[in-house]
Amino acid sequence: MPELPEVEVTRIGIKPHIEGKTITGVKIIDGRLRKPVPRNLPAILKGQQVIAIDRRGKYILLEMDAGHLIVHLGMTGTLRVLSSAEGLKLHDRVIFEFGSLSLRFHDPRKFGIVLWHPKSEGPVEFNSIFKKMGVEPFSTGFSGDSGSELLFLCSRGRKVSVKQFLLAGQAVVGVGNIYCSESLFEAGIHPAKVAGNLSRKQCARLANAIRLTLEKAIHAGGSSLKDFVNSDGSPGHFMMQTKTYGREGKLCVMCKLSVIMKIVQGQRSTYFCASCQKR
Ligand SMILES: [Zn+2]
Repeated sequence: MPELPEVEVTRIGIKPHIEGKTITGVKIIDGRLRKPVPRNLPAILKGQQVIAIDRRGKYILLEMDAGHLIVHLGMTGTLRVLSSAEGLKLHDRVIFEFGSLSLRFHDPRKFGIVLWHPKSEGPVEFNSIFKKMGVEPFSTGFSGDSGSELLFLCSRGRKVSVKQFLLAGQAVVGVGNIYCSESLFEAGIHPAKVAGNLSRKQCARLANAIRLTLEKAIHAGGSSLKDFVNSDGSPGHFMMQTKTYGREGKLCVMCKLSVIMKIVQGQRSTYFCASCQKR
């Protein structure tokens, strides 16, 4: 499933090709996604210019003249810029045409989302899908002391594990399963520690580790950017080098004494080092 770093790399990948361009046509090949694609989308979007391409959580936001096009990649979705002359592929769902270029939403499993949020309904942040989302990991609300204070305040009284607290994304977004294991390892915090028992010091280390881990992942994905404009690559799917995730039974790179262990929390795998990560 594309996580925040992959979505961010997609955003960076398509931005230089699409920003400032005007939509000349939209084709809905199959609009039966997680939510149905609005049937009138072609009529709405034709002639509108893409003003900016932003991201909120795992949603890509194309700011248009009259509102925002909201895209979520779901489980298997990709967005890619191709020549309009390029033939359609199986599982291409929605095509946004910009003259000689087209932006294609491809989604085999159809868990993605393509929605329209008109300006008349207020700022896009007010859309109900963003209601319970935590702050952005690279925003000022999560930088420096703000990040650690936010984690500390949001975790007070919470009896769930710190792993589940982070995965819920209500304090900070983007800490998906892989990045959660990696961040907790970097911060030296045991994944089963009760969130409400995190100290201020641990929150500071954790906020820092989250920012660094996500930055590292986005950087790792940067090498896949060229694939956003050719037809052979598979954009949006990459893996950074991990220290815990998927390394069960392997020697810990930090202490070089213990092996990485795997436990299941809330039906998701967690990897950690019992020597380096404290409860
Ligand atoms: Zn270790």
